[in-house]
Amino acid sequence: MKEKPTVPFFRAADMSEEQQAVGEVLASGWLTTGARAERFETEFGAAVRAPHAVAVNSCTAALHLALEALDVRSGDKVIVPTLTFAASAEVVRYMDAEPVFVDVEPGTNLLTRELVERAVQRHGAVKACVVVHFGGQTPQMGGEHGVASYCAENGIALVEDAAHAFPAASDVGPVGSSSDACCFSFYANKTITTGEGGMLTTSSDAVAARAQVMRLHGIDRPVWNRYRAGASWAYDVVAPGFKYNMPDLNAAVGLVQLRKADAWRAARQRIAERYLSELAAVPGLLLPTSRVPLESHAWHLFPIVITDDVRMTRDEFIVQLAEDGVSTSVHYRPLHRMSYYRDRYQLDESDFPNAEAYWQGCVSLPIFPSMTPAEVELVIAAVRNGAATQ
Ligand SMILES: *Cc1c(COP(=O)(O)O)cnc(C)c1O
Repeated sequence: MKEKPTVPFFRAADMSEEQQAVGEVLASGWLTTGARAERFETEFGAAVRAPHAVAVNSCTAALHLALEALDVRSGDKVIVPTLTFAASAEVVRYMDAEPVFVDVEPGTNLLTRELVERAVQRHGAVKACVVVHFGGQTPQMGGEHGVASYCAENGIALVEDAAHAFPAASDVGPVGSSSDACCFSFYANKTITTGEGGMLTTSSDAVAARAQVMRLHGIDRPVWNRYRAGASWAYDVVAPGFKYNMPDLNAAVGLVQLRKADAWRAARQRIAERYLSELAAVPGLLLPTSRVPLESHAWHLFPIVITDDVRMTRDEFIVQLAEDGVSTSVHYRPLHRMSYYRDRYQLDESDFPNAEAYWQGCVSLPIFPSMTPAEVELVIAAVRNGAATQ
């Protein structure tokens, strides 16, 4: 009997080149942070045209270092969109600061200048704003309607959570090229991976210098020089820093992945274009709105929304797709629904109508570079089949 074809939500790419690179690191005898991590910083920084790039062991670490370097302290308020992964908000609590949760724009699931402005009017002085580039695209950053220009005009530090957004561009340039802090993730299923890893890019000399010290125990200089021939063993500890450095084993993987990033982004765009054209006319579905040119979008996610016109709940729709061989995911249960934040800040669902409407119906479809045309067609057929169950 022929087996029914299936499509996974994500499939890791061929890793033979990365295997070779890791083998070279193992053979070299230097496994932790060293020359490869430094080279990964240089090459990643060049790819996003960042004045500084600081390699770390996760995007969460990069976000934490960013808030620390931007002087977010106990009791400060930090704007965070409710529709994001836990990491975007937990780092605010690491600093004993208070997240101010904000609803997102329908269709894009992004913050807007107006949403940030309203939150500032309601909550008073805000120290920083975490802007999440949901799914791989950015809100308008510059100009009269820009989130970044609003923050700059009002003395609010801007931290970009770009975990979904490499490679991507906004109206002011490549994501990572121009803000107080931009944080990337190289987690296993992100657009490029180092297994676990992250990068903080910044155009501020001060943020870069502070993050470099705080990512490794608050030691005042790069200690991987400590053991090199002729290097001094002397160092000082200037602050109670963290243990966030990226090992060379991981950086070696990242250096290989970096060379593939543009081709992979283009492959995901082609899948998104198929979905956008083939699913546009399906009644009962809302497709994601692309507010940037298709080429500026990283296409990390393709989240559709099942409306009330489909006689199935989101959870039933997911089961139906699974029966048709298609694995999906959900991004995300909004943070105002998570018990810790809901209880601590007495959050009410009615304050987040757009994120709520999205959450009730959202389903993320598979979108990864090695998807075959047949797999894309299988997803389209399964979605049509599910939506037709009226
Ligand atoms: C994955 C992700 C993170 C965390 O990345 P790590 O590298 O796993 O720490 C942060 N924010 C968003 C939006 C993410 O999707």
